[in-house]
Amino acid sequence: MKSVFYFLAAAFFCCNSFGEGKTFQYSTINSLLNGDYNGSFSLKDLRSHGDFGIGTYRDLDGEMILLDGVFYQIKADGKVYQPELEIKTPFAVVTNFKEDITFKTEEAVTDLKVLGKLLDAKLPTENIIYAVKVDADFSYVKVRSVPAQVKPFKPLVAITKDQPVFEYKNIKGTLVCFRFPAFTEKINVPEYHFHFISEDKTVGGHLLEVKIRKAEVRISKSHNFELSLPKTAEFYRSNVSGNNKSDINQAEK
Ligand code: ZN
Repeated sequence: MKSVFYFLAAAFFCCNSFGEGKTFQYSTINSLLNGDYNGSFSLKDLRSHGDFGIGTYRDLDGEMILLDGVFYQIKADGKVYQPELEIKTPFAVVTNFKEDITFKTEEAVTDLKVLGKLLDAKLPTENIIYAVKVDADFSYVKVRSVPAQVKPFKPLVAITKDQPVFEYKNIKGTLVCFRFPAFTEKINVPEYHFHFISEDKTVGGHLLEVKIRKAEVRISKSHNFELSLPKTAEFYRSNVSGNNKSDINQAEK
């Protein structure tokens, strides 16, 4: 009898930790908005928590994409670089991507709102975390990146005001995205946050506008979330509990 109990207990814990997906995040969106751009978590460590993700690099030196286990750094010139794994990040979110939901669409996507609605229609709930990969034939993308900063760091909205913006027409590529529930708004960007990289891995950035002809979508669900918080002096004194709505809309949408 005892052994049956242990078997059931083992099966329960096993099923609870496998197959339900886990998202790992370093630092919080509010800390980034407040200007903690100190790289304090290495890409090597981040890679041990996932093969798919988005974020930024130390000193806010460009947009991060982690796709199929490879890190890409899109610097302020809009071009893609491959960073060393010793480089550190001040903010990133990753998961080990699994294909839980997949579909193809040839419906024309005319903007970010339409894309959000198209994806939302396939989700079983808005209350869990999703990683979303969209391989598509884009008729238009508008992206931004951010330039490396020097101390004293300014808040993110002061930097994105003059952000370098790039536009591409008729380009193939991938959107690397997370969708967080609205209730996590002080921790990550609520709803969709897309980064774009071209199929030839030469250009990309944080997505501002989009038009899609056809796409293949893969969605990875996470019922588990691990949050690692920085040991930096900036994080310790940052007002990470403040209201961030207008800052998020200006800096991250
Ligand atoms: Zn972004």
